[in-house]
Amino acid sequence: MSDTLAGALSQLKKAASYTDVPDEVLEALSFPKEVLTARISVRMDNGARRSFEAWRCRYDDTRGPTKGGIRFHPDANLEEVVTLAFWMTFKCAVANLPYGGGKGAIRVDPSKLSRRELERLSRAYVHAFASMIGPDRDIPAPDVYTNAMVMGWMADEYSSLVGYPCPAVITGKPIPLGGSLGRDGATAKGGFYVLNNLLAEVGLENCERRAVVQGFGNAGATIAAMLHQDGWKIIAVSDTGGCVHDGCGLDPQKLAEAKKEHGSVIGYAKGVSGGKVTTMERDEMFALECDLLVPAALEDQITKDNAGAINASVIMELANGPVTAEADKVLEEKGVTVIPDILANAGGVTVSYFEWVQNRQGFYWTEEEVQHKLRPIMDRESAAIWRLSQKKSITLRTAAYVLGLERIAEAIQAHGTQNYFCP
Ligand code: GLU
Repeated sequence: MSDTLAGALSQLKKAASYTDVPDEVLEALSFPKEVLTARISVRMDNGARRSFEAWRCRYDDTRGPTKGGIRFHPDANLEEVVTLAFWMTFKCAVANLPYGGGKGAIRVDPSKLSRRELERLSRAYVHAFASMIGPDRDIPAPDVYTNAMVMGWMADEYSSLVGYPCPAVITGKPIPLGGSLGRDGATAKGGFYVLNNLLAEVGLENCERRAVVQGFGNAGATIAAMLHQDGWKIIAVSDTGGCVHDGCGLDPQKLAEAKKEHGSVIGYAKGVSGGKVTTMERDEMFALECDLLVPAALEDQITKDNAGAINASVIMELANGPVTAEADKVLEEKGVTVIPDILANAGGVTVSYFEWVQNRQGFYWTEEEVQHKLRPIMDRESAAIWRLSQKKSITLRTAAYVLGLERIAEAIQAHGTQNYFCP
């Protein structure tokens, strides 16, 4: 078992120790319900056939159809997919959505494919997993290196397989194909609501408002822009190309332009702000003194090796699993507050749920209606998790797992447990 999956399951055990959830419920949540591995074969532009390994996992569907993204990444693997599906199960429960958790991936570097190859690969994924997905069974969405365009191809492919338009099979689609307004920025927006809801509680109300953002994809770029607009100073940002730092603050708009022009935020350092900008390595960036650190890239970034040097008061996890279980302990000892992924980035799947609801009712909402429905969910669940952490003297992560576990356990127990059948 990978360390990441073991860490996730250890979190379940830890949360369980603060509840009276029966062992049979924990046993049910310790294994994925369904996993499918497929080898997808695609015709490349040069005429040759190439095959790619792909997976989909439906971890638990007691609370409803499974929900979770599909990532295209060269390091994707089965255990990562299972771990991400486990996290989705708890994330959907924390946001109190009528969903279980799922996840999928293709082991591929999409930057090495042409657009036509990418379309063929996306459609081939749907063919391979058509028996597993479905609007009432398992509903994919975007994840690392997949986007609205990919979701549109996938929905279209599924629709041609079943013979009628079926937008509710997938979320995060382009707006003209049944996407929801507000889905694009939803992950960051949800995090922003959570942060503002807990600002005083986590001691950031009167801070200097210095933020560091790791990752400049959908979530990272959007949160950087939102924080900047709210008066935060974005002192460092990174992407796969490297990290740029300016103690006086970076301009997210110009970072986005630099990324577009040079392929990386590192392009920002090329003269944009008259030599104040420096570049640095990831761990050096993590060690910068700041009030808020937002990992918004991949899992396993803050580990036992670099956690000790973290100089942030609060970490808000917009990525899934950026802090390892071992690093979590180090951070707790250091007094760094971690706002956990299953709360902080739940805005994405929440607006995905709204998209699915709109597709099913065929009645679409304005952007204001979407925000009007998203905010109360993020506010309510962050307040509940904060209260639980105070009441039981546990971290916000453990409190989030306790809340999620209690909700999932309630659903599992509603079918009857040993106590019911053999009192
Ligand atoms: N991939 C996103 C996540 O990890 C979104 C999932 C969804 O919208 O279903 O939360």
